[in-house]
Amino acid sequence: MARIAFIGLGNMGGGMAANLVKAGHEVLAFDLSAEALDKAERSGCLPMGSASQAVSDVDAVITMLPAGKHVREVYETSVIGYAPKDALLIDCSTIDVATAREESEKAAAEGYSMVDAPVSGGIAAAEGGTLTFMVGGSDEAFERAREILDKMGKAVIHAGGPGSGQAAKICNNMLLGASMVATCETFILAQRLGLDPQTFFDIASKASGQCWSMTTYCPVPGVGPVTPADRDYEGGFAAALMLKDLRLATEAAESVDAYTPMGWSAEDLYARFDKLGFGHKDFSGIIQMLENGWDTILDDEELEEQEKE
Ligand code: NAD
Repeated sequence: MARIAFIGLGNMGGGMAANLVKAGHEVLAFDLSAEALDKAERSGCLPMGSASQAVSDVDAVITMLPAGKHVREVYETSVIGYAPKDALLIDCSTIDVATAREESEKAAAEGYSMVDAPVSGGIAAAEGGTLTFMVGGSDEAFERAREILDKMGKAVIHAGGPGSGQAAKICNNMLLGASMVATCETFILAQRLGLDPQTFFDIASKASGQCWSMTTYCPVPGVGPVTPADRDYEGGFAAALMLKDLRLATEAAESVDAYTPMGWSAEDLYARFDKLGFGHKDFSGIIQMLENGWDTILDDEELEEQEKE
Protein backbone atom coordinates (compact mmCIF):
# COMPACT_ATOMS: atom_id res chain seq x y z
CA MET A 1 0.00 0.00 0.00
CA ALA A 2 1.29 3.46 -0.88
CA ARG A 3 0.40 6.93 0.40
CA ILE A 4 -0.66 8.96 -2.61
CA ALA A 5 -1.57 12.65 -2.81
CA PHE A 6 -4.27 13.30 -5.44
CA ILE A 7 -4.85 16.88 -6.55
CA GLY A 8 -7.77 17.66 -8.87
CA LEU A 9 -10.78 15.45 -8.17
CA GLY A 10 -13.11 16.59 -10.92
CA ASN A 11 -14.88 14.48 -13.54
CA MET A 12 -11.80 12.37 -14.19
CA GLY A 13 -9.76 12.63 -11.00
CA GLY A 14 -12.72 11.68 -8.78
CA GLY A 15 -13.11 8.24 -10.35
CA MET A 16 -9.35 7.68 -10.62
CA ALA A 17 -8.75 8.45 -6.93
CA ALA A 18 -11.64 6.14 -5.95
CA ASN A 19 -9.96 3.29 -7.85
CA LEU A 20 -6.70 3.86 -5.98
CA VAL A 21 -8.64 3.60 -2.70
CA LYS A 22 -10.27 0.37 -3.92
CA ALA A 23 -6.79 -0.99 -4.71
CA GLY A 24 -5.83 -0.45 -1.06
CA HIS A 25 -3.85 2.80 -1.31
CA GLU A 26 -4.17 5.64 1.15
CA VAL A 27 -5.25 8.66 -0.88
CA LEU A 28 -4.77 12.20 0.47
CA ALA A 29 -7.01 14.40 -1.62
CA PHE A 30 -7.16 18.10 -2.40
CA ASP A 31 -9.35 20.13 -4.75
CA LEU A 32 -10.29 23.80 -4.75
CA SER A 33 -13.91 22.70 -5.06
CA ALA A 34 -15.50 21.69 -1.75
CA GLU A 35 -18.06 19.63 -3.65
CA ALA A 36 -15.35 17.59 -5.42
CA LEU A 37 -13.53 17.09 -2.12
CA ASP A 38 -16.71 15.90 -0.36
CA LYS A 39 -17.32 13.40 -3.13
CA ALA A 40 -13.75 12.13 -2.84
CA GLU A 41 -14.19 11.72 0.91
CA ARG A 42 -17.32 9.65 0.28
CA SER A 43 -15.26 7.35 -1.95
CA GLY A 44 -12.70 6.79 0.81
CA CYS A 45 -10.08 9.52 0.24
CA LEU A 46 -8.75 11.63 3.12
CA PRO A 47 -9.66 15.28 2.42
CA MET A 48 -6.78 17.72 3.04
CA GLY A 49 -6.85 21.49 3.57
CA SER A 50 -4.32 22.39 0.86
CA ALA A 51 -2.24 20.84 -1.89
CA SER A 52 1.01 21.39 0.05
CA GLN A 53 -0.49 19.66 3.09
CA ALA A 54 -1.62 16.73 0.93
CA VAL A 55 1.85 16.14 -0.57
CA SER A 56 3.95 16.62 2.58
CA ASP A 57 4.40 12.94 3.50
CA VAL A 58 3.60 10.70 0.54
CA ASP A 59 5.18 8.17 -1.84
CA ALA A 60 3.62 9.71 -4.96
CA VAL A 61 1.74 12.81 -6.07
CA ILE A 62 -0.88 12.65 -8.84
CA THR A 63 -2.35 15.75 -10.46
CA MET A 64 -5.45 15.74 -12.71
CA LEU A 65 -6.02 19.41 -13.50
CA PRO A 66 -7.71 21.34 -16.32
CA ALA A 67 -4.71 22.83 -18.20
CA GLY A 68 -1.00 23.69 -18.23
CA LYS A 69 -1.37 26.89 -16.18
CA HIS A 70 -3.04 24.98 -13.33
CA VAL A 71 -0.34 22.30 -13.37
CA ARG A 72 2.42 24.93 -13.34
CA GLU A 73 0.77 26.79 -10.47
CA VAL A 74 0.20 23.68 -8.34
CA TYR A 75 3.68 22.28 -9.03
CA GLU A 76 5.45 25.55 -8.29
CA THR A 77 3.45 26.63 -5.24
CA SER A 78 2.65 23.31 -3.59
CA VAL A 79 4.53 20.29 -4.97
CA ILE A 80 8.17 20.99 -5.86
CA GLY A 81 9.94 21.61 -2.57
CA TYR A 82 6.87 20.51 -0.56
CA ALA A 83 6.68 16.78 -1.35
CA PRO A 84 9.46 14.45 -0.06
CA LYS A 85 12.29 14.23 -2.63
CA ASP A 86 11.75 10.51 -3.13
CA ALA A 87 8.05 10.96 -3.98
CA LEU A 88 7.26 10.18 -7.61
CA LEU A 89 5.43 13.04 -9.36
CA ILE A 90 2.77 11.96 -11.89
CA ASP A 91 0.82 14.52 -13.91
CA CYS A 92 -2.20 12.91 -15.63
CA SER A 93 -3.71 16.19 -16.93
CA THR A 94 -3.73 16.92 -20.66
CA ILE A 95 -1.42 19.92 -21.09
CA ASP A 96 0.95 21.45 -23.63
CA VAL A 97 4.20 19.61 -24.28
CA ALA A 98 6.32 22.68 -23.46
CA THR A 99 4.88 23.08 -19.93
CA ALA A 100 5.18 19.33 -19.31
CA ARG A 101 8.89 19.46 -20.23
CA GLU A 102 9.52 22.64 -18.20
CA GLU A 103 7.93 21.23 -15.05
CA SER A 104 9.79 17.95 -15.47
CA GLU A 105 13.09 19.87 -15.72
CA LYS A 106 12.26 21.99 -12.67
CA ALA A 107 11.32 18.87 -10.70
CA ALA A 108 14.53 17.08 -11.78
CA ALA A 109 16.64 20.10 -10.76
CA GLU A 110 15.22 19.72 -7.24
CA GLY A 111 15.92 15.96 -7.21
CA TYR A 112 12.44 14.61 -8.06
CA SER A 113 11.42 11.99 -10.64
CA MET A 114 8.42 13.07 -12.69
CA VAL A 115 6.32 11.57 -15.47
CA ASP A 116 3.63 13.09 -17.65
CA ALA A 117 0.87 10.48 -17.97
CA PRO A 118 -2.17 11.87 -19.82
CA VAL A 119 -5.06 9.52 -20.47
CA SER A 120 -7.26 8.31 -23.26
CA GLY A 121 -10.80 7.41 -22.21
CA GLY A 122 -13.50 9.56 -20.66
CA ILE A 123 -15.36 9.76 -17.37
CA ALA A 124 -16.75 6.20 -17.63
CA ALA A 125 -13.24 4.81 -18.20
CA ALA A 126 -11.93 6.85 -15.24
CA GLU A 127 -14.65 5.36 -13.03
CA GLY A 128 -14.29 1.86 -14.45
CA GLY A 129 -10.47 1.82 -14.20
CA THR A 130 -10.09 1.25 -17.93
CA LEU A 131 -8.07 4.31 -18.97
CA THR A 132 -5.07 4.15 -21.30
CA PHE A 133 -2.05 6.03 -19.94
CA MET A 134 0.63 7.44 -22.26
CA VAL A 135 3.68 8.04 -20.17
CA GLY A 136 6.68 10.33 -20.71
CA GLY A 137 9.71 10.03 -18.47
CA SER A 138 12.82 7.96 -17.72
CA ASP A 139 12.68 4.13 -17.77
CA GLU A 140 13.03 4.05 -14.01
CA ALA A 141 10.27 6.62 -13.39
CA PHE A 142 8.01 4.77 -15.84
CA GLU A 143 8.44 1.48 -13.95
CA ARG A 144 7.58 3.17 -10.66
CA ALA A 145 4.57 4.95 -12.19
CA ARG A 146 3.28 1.80 -13.84
CA GLU A 147 2.61 0.11 -10.49
CA ILE A 148 0.23 2.93 -9.53
CA LEU A 149 -1.30 3.65 -12.94
CA ASP A 150 -2.11 -0.04 -13.48
CA LYS A 151 -4.78 0.31 -10.79
CA MET A 152 -6.59 2.99 -12.80
CA GLY A 153 -6.22 1.75 -16.35
CA LYS A 154 -6.24 -1.11 -18.81
CA ALA A 155 -3.03 -0.05 -20.56
CA VAL A 156 0.06 1.88 -19.45
CA ILE A 157 2.42 2.63 -22.32
CA HIS A 158 5.87 4.22 -22.19
CA ALA A 159 5.91 6.84 -24.94
CA GLY A 160 9.48 8.10 -24.42
CA GLY A 161 11.26 10.79 -22.40
CA PRO A 162 9.69 13.74 -20.54
CA GLY A 163 6.80 15.35 -22.47
CA SER A 164 6.37 12.31 -24.75
CA GLY A 165 3.13 11.27 -23.04
CA GLN A 166 1.61 14.66 -23.86
CA ALA A 167 2.99 14.50 -27.41
CA ALA A 168 1.36 11.08 -27.93
CA LYS A 169 -1.92 12.27 -26.44
CA ILE A 170 -2.32 15.35 -28.63
CA CYS A 171 -1.19 13.52 -31.78
CA ASN A 172 -3.77 10.79 -31.06
CA ASN A 173 -6.51 13.33 -30.44
CA MET A 174 -5.64 15.35 -33.54
CA LEU A 175 -6.13 12.16 -35.54
CA LEU A 176 -9.39 11.46 -33.67
CA GLY A 177 -10.79 14.98 -34.22
CA ALA A 178 -9.92 14.99 -37.91
CA SER A 179 -11.26 11.45 -38.45
CA MET A 180 -14.52 12.30 -36.65
CA VAL A 181 -15.12 15.33 -38.88
CA ALA A 182 -14.30 13.20 -41.93
CA THR A 183 -16.69 10.47 -40.74
CA CYS A 184 -19.50 12.99 -40.17
CA GLU A 185 -19.21 14.69 -43.54
CA THR A 186 -18.93 11.32 -45.29
CA PHE A 187 -22.19 10.04 -43.77
CA ILE A 188 -23.95 13.29 -44.73
CA LEU A 189 -22.74 12.90 -48.31
CA ALA A 190 -23.66 9.19 -48.41
CA GLN A 191 -27.21 9.95 -47.26
CA ARG A 192 -27.65 12.80 -49.72
CA LEU A 193 -26.49 10.49 -52.50
CA GLY A 194 -29.33 8.16 -51.53
CA LEU A 195 -27.41 5.55 -49.53
CA ASP A 196 -29.01 4.04 -46.45
CA PRO A 197 -26.69 4.96 -43.50
CA GLN A 198 -26.70 1.42 -42.03
CA THR A 199 -25.88 -0.06 -45.45
CA PHE A 200 -23.06 2.45 -45.92
CA PHE A 201 -21.79 1.62 -42.41
CA ASP A 202 -21.80 -2.11 -43.23
CA ILE A 203 -19.83 -1.46 -46.42
CA ALA A 204 -17.34 1.14 -45.17
CA SER A 205 -16.59 -0.74 -41.95
CA LYS A 206 -15.40 -3.67 -44.12
CA ALA A 207 -13.68 -1.45 -46.68
CA SER A 208 -10.70 0.90 -46.67
CA GLY A 209 -12.63 3.81 -45.11
CA GLN A 210 -12.87 1.88 -41.83
CA CYS A 211 -11.86 3.90 -38.76
CA TRP A 212 -12.59 4.04 -35.00
CA SER A 213 -14.75 7.19 -35.31
CA MET A 214 -17.10 5.18 -37.50
CA THR A 215 -17.03 1.58 -36.29
CA THR A 216 -16.85 2.21 -32.53
CA TYR A 217 -18.22 5.74 -32.17
CA CYS A 218 -20.55 6.24 -35.13
CA PRO A 219 -21.95 9.81 -35.11
CA VAL A 220 -25.21 8.73 -36.79
CA PRO A 221 -28.01 7.71 -34.36
CA GLY A 222 -29.15 4.10 -34.69
CA VAL A 223 -26.16 3.04 -36.77
CA GLY A 224 -23.40 0.75 -35.46
CA PRO A 225 -22.92 0.17 -31.71
CA VAL A 226 -24.70 2.33 -29.10
CA THR A 227 -22.85 5.66 -28.90
CA PRO A 228 -23.54 9.22 -27.60
CA ALA A 229 -25.36 9.80 -30.93
CA ASP A 230 -28.11 7.53 -29.55
CA ARG A 231 -28.64 9.80 -26.53
CA ASP A 232 -28.75 13.15 -28.29
CA TYR A 233 -24.95 13.51 -28.06
CA GLU A 234 -25.00 13.74 -24.25
CA GLY A 235 -22.17 12.22 -22.18
CA GLY A 236 -19.07 10.92 -23.91
CA PHE A 237 -16.18 13.26 -24.73
CA ALA A 238 -17.17 16.95 -24.68
CA ALA A 239 -16.57 18.92 -27.88
CA ALA A 240 -14.95 21.68 -25.75
CA LEU A 241 -12.30 19.18 -24.59
CA MET A 242 -11.70 18.04 -28.17
CA LEU A 243 -11.24 21.71 -29.10
CA LYS A 244 -8.76 22.12 -26.23
CA ASP A 245 -6.72 19.13 -27.47
CA LEU A 246 -6.82 20.29 -31.10
CA ARG A 247 -5.56 23.71 -30.02
CA LEU A 248 -2.70 22.05 -28.13
CA ALA A 249 -1.92 19.98 -31.23
CA THR A 250 -1.82 22.90 -33.66
CA GLU A 251 0.20 24.98 -31.17
CA ALA A 252 2.69 22.10 -30.86
CA ALA A 253 2.76 21.70 -34.66
CA GLU A 254 3.69 25.37 -35.06
CA SER A 255 6.45 25.04 -32.48
CA VAL A 256 8.18 22.31 -34.52
CA ASP A 257 7.22 23.63 -37.96
CA ALA A 258 4.97 20.66 -38.84
CA TYR A 259 2.28 21.33 -41.47
CA THR A 260 -1.03 19.87 -40.17
CA PRO A 261 -3.83 21.22 -42.38
CA MET A 262 -6.37 18.53 -41.39
CA GLY A 263 -5.74 19.14 -37.70
CA TRP A 264 -6.10 22.86 -38.24
CA SER A 265 -9.40 22.42 -40.15
CA ALA A 266 -10.77 20.20 -37.39
CA GLU A 267 -9.77 22.82 -34.81
CA ASP A 268 -11.51 25.55 -36.82
CA LEU A 269 -14.73 23.50 -37.10
CA TYR A 270 -14.77 22.59 -33.39
CA ALA A 271 -14.17 26.27 -32.51
CA ARG A 272 -17.28 27.15 -34.53
CA PHE A 273 -19.30 24.34 -32.91
CA ASP A 274 -18.22 25.56 -29.47
CA LYS A 275 -19.09 29.18 -30.29
CA LEU A 276 -22.55 28.06 -31.36
CA GLY A 277 -23.00 26.87 -27.76
CA PHE A 278 -22.48 23.12 -28.20
CA GLY A 279 -19.16 22.69 -26.36
CA HIS A 280 -20.87 20.52 -23.71
CA LYS A 281 -22.16 18.05 -26.32
CA ASP A 282 -20.25 14.92 -27.27
CA PHE A 283 -17.71 15.72 -29.99
CA SER A 284 -19.52 13.48 -32.50
CA GLY A 285 -22.45 15.95 -32.28
CA ILE A 286 -20.56 18.15 -34.75
CA ILE A 287 -22.41 16.14 -37.41
CA GLN A 288 -25.49 18.29 -36.64
CA MET A 289 -23.59 21.49 -37.45
CA LEU A 290 -22.19 19.97 -40.63
CA GLU A 291 -25.63 18.67 -41.63
CA ASN A 292 -27.07 22.15 -41.49
CA GLY A 293 -24.34 23.38 -43.79
CA TRP A 294 -22.65 26.74 -43.88
CA ASP A 295 -25.82 28.72 -43.04
CA THR A 296 -25.55 27.82 -39.37
CA ILE A 297 -21.79 28.04 -39.16
CA LEU A 298 -20.59 31.44 -37.98
CA ASP A 299 -18.59 33.38 -40.56
CA ASP A 300 -15.04 34.42 -39.68
CA GLU A 301 -16.11 37.93 -38.60
CA GLU A 302 -18.77 36.60 -36.23
CA LEU A 303 -16.31 34.11 -34.83
CA GLU A 304 -13.74 36.88 -34.21
CA GLU A 305 -16.41 39.07 -32.56
CA GLN A 306 -17.38 36.26 -30.20
CA GLU A 307 -13.76 35.51 -29.38
CA LYS A 308 -13.26 39.17 -28.32
CA GLU A 309 -16.25 39.03 -25.92
P1 NAD B 1 -12.62 18.95 -14.29
O1 NAD B 1 -12.70 20.42 -14.56
O2 NAD B 1 -13.86 18.17 -14.08
O3 NAD B 1 -11.66 18.70 -13.01
C1 NAD B 1 -10.53 19.47 -12.72
C2 NAD B 1 -10.51 19.67 -11.21
O4 NAD B 1 -9.32 20.40 -10.87
C3 NAD B 1 -11.69 20.50 -10.70
O5 NAD B 1 -12.37 19.78 -9.69
C4 NAD B 1 -11.03 21.77 -10.15
O6 NAD B 1 -11.69 22.31 -9.01
C5 NAD B 1 -9.64 21.27 -9.80
N1 NAD B 1 -8.64 22.33 -9.73
C6 NAD B 1 -8.39 23.32 -10.60
N2 NAD B 1 -7.35 24.08 -10.16
C7 NAD B 1 -6.94 23.52 -8.98
C8 NAD B 1 -5.93 23.83 -8.07
N3 NAD B 1 -5.12 24.90 -8.24
N4 NAD B 1 -5.80 23.07 -6.96
C9 NAD B 1 -6.61 22.00 -6.77
N5 NAD B 1 -7.61 21.65 -7.61
C10 NAD B 1 -7.76 22.41 -8.70
O7 NAD B 1 -11.77 18.35 -15.50
P2 NAD B 1 -11.70 16.82 -15.96
O8 NAD B 1 -12.75 16.54 -16.95
O9 NAD B 1 -11.57 15.96 -14.74
O10 NAD B 1 -10.32 16.82 -16.75
C11 NAD B 1 -9.05 16.83 -16.09
C12 NAD B 1 -7.97 16.67 -17.13
O11 NAD B 1 -8.17 15.45 -17.83
C13 NAD B 1 -7.96 17.77 -18.19
O12 NAD B 1 -6.63 18.12 -18.46
C14 NAD B 1 -8.65 17.13 -19.38
O13 NAD B 1 -8.23 17.69 -20.62
C15 NAD B 1 -8.21 15.69 -19.23
N6 NAD B 1 -9.12 14.69 -19.84
C16 NAD B 1 -10.46 14.77 -19.64
C17 NAD B 1 -11.30 13.82 -20.22
C18 NAD B 1 -12.81 13.88 -20.00
O14 NAD B 1 -13.52 13.14 -20.68
N7 NAD B 1 -13.31 14.69 -19.09
C19 NAD B 1 -10.76 12.78 -20.98
C20 NAD B 1 -9.38 12.70 -21.14
C21 NAD B 1 -8.56 13.67 -20.55
